[in-house]
Amino acid sequence: MLGTMTYDNPSQEINLNSLVVELEHYRRQSEWLGLVNDLHARLSGAVDLPTMLEAFSVWLTPLVNHELMAYENQERNRIHMLCSCHGPDRRQIIEIAKESLKLQTNIEDSYCGLHGNFHLHRWSLDKFKASGILLVLKKDKKISQYEEGLINKGLEILSEPLQRALEYEDLYEQASHDALTGLLNRRVFEERITSIMAQSHRHGHPVTLACLDLDKFKEINDTHGHAVGDMVLQKMARIMEGMVRSCDILARIGGDEFVIILPETKLAEAQFLANRLCQAIEQVDLPALGSSKLGISIGLAELESGQSQEKWLQLADEALYQAKAAGRSQVCSL
Ligand code: GH3
Ligand code: MG
Repeated sequence: MLGTMTYDNPSQEINLNSLVVELEHYRRQSEWLGLVNDLHARLSGAVDLPTMLEAFSVWLTPLVNHELMAYENQERNRIHMLCSCHGPDRRQIIEIAKESLKLQTNIEDSYCGLHGNFHLHRWSLDKFKASGILLVLKKDKKISQYEEGLINKGLEILSEPLQRALEYEDLYEQASHDALTGLLNRRVFEERITSIMAQSHRHGHPVTLACLDLDKFKEINDTHGHAVGDMVLQKMARIMEGMVRSCDILARIGGDEFVIILPETKLAEAQFLANRLCQAIEQVDLPALGSSKLGISIGLAELESGQSQEKWLQLADEALYQAKAAGRSQVCSL
């Protein structure tokens, strides 16, 4: 314990205690300044939400030593998790985070208690002028007051670029998706087909293209109105979406025209999927359609070695034309 040193001359009396407190205060301030600068530098290269959260989590790891960071924005339907641990703990803490994000707790204190071995902390980003919720899970020990202060400071800095990243992603979403069905649009299809083709040619992997067009869709519009037509397009989109794999590229490229690029898929496998799709659409029962039945025609073409994009598209389109000519609601391939 430091005491007070008394000099002969009382005006020279120095209170060492207050000097040490003051020095500690300056040491902390310069340490925080360094940390804040470090976070600014890490965030400056990040544009999208995942990279930004990754930068924040990497910055926080040596300071807090957390196991998981998760961000959720329900309004925008965004969720992103970063988990640093491996092994059996990993699955457990991802489950804890998912369950915790579902809960609508609105508490002032960031601490949400112990779940298994993990202490859960949760921040609503509203108070940092951003939107969404941030979760941090730490093993064995809860986050200390000092660490919490750091996270609060970090979130203040993160909030503005995070909000910008969300707005950027909204704009990207609008520019890449069809407004009616929410599927990818023609622009993205054209981008993706070029890169998928290049990969297939390079590695010799199969890829099949499906061109799809609803049957007699004009009649649906004429008989039941445009609004019902729109509803049918949305229903078709959901059925197709439910039947393709996450690696497939499904896009709406025109009024009632859709395409699916099926990477790693030979013609025979694509035929199997396309036939199931035709059957599923024939079986759709929409009360608004009365006795009208739906159908879709599908043309397939597997990319051949060295084939040009123009030729590949043309073959799939010709196959679609054949399916229409042969009576609709069926699959043809070339
Ligand atoms: P086919 O079996 O030969 O394809 O006959 P079809 O009547 O489907 O003919 P086609 O594919 O040429 O017609 C597409 C129709 O889709 C024409 C247009 O009125 C309608 N359409 C295009 N975009 C939209 C849309 O966004 N909403 C609605 N409701 N209809 C649309
Ligand atoms: Mg049509």
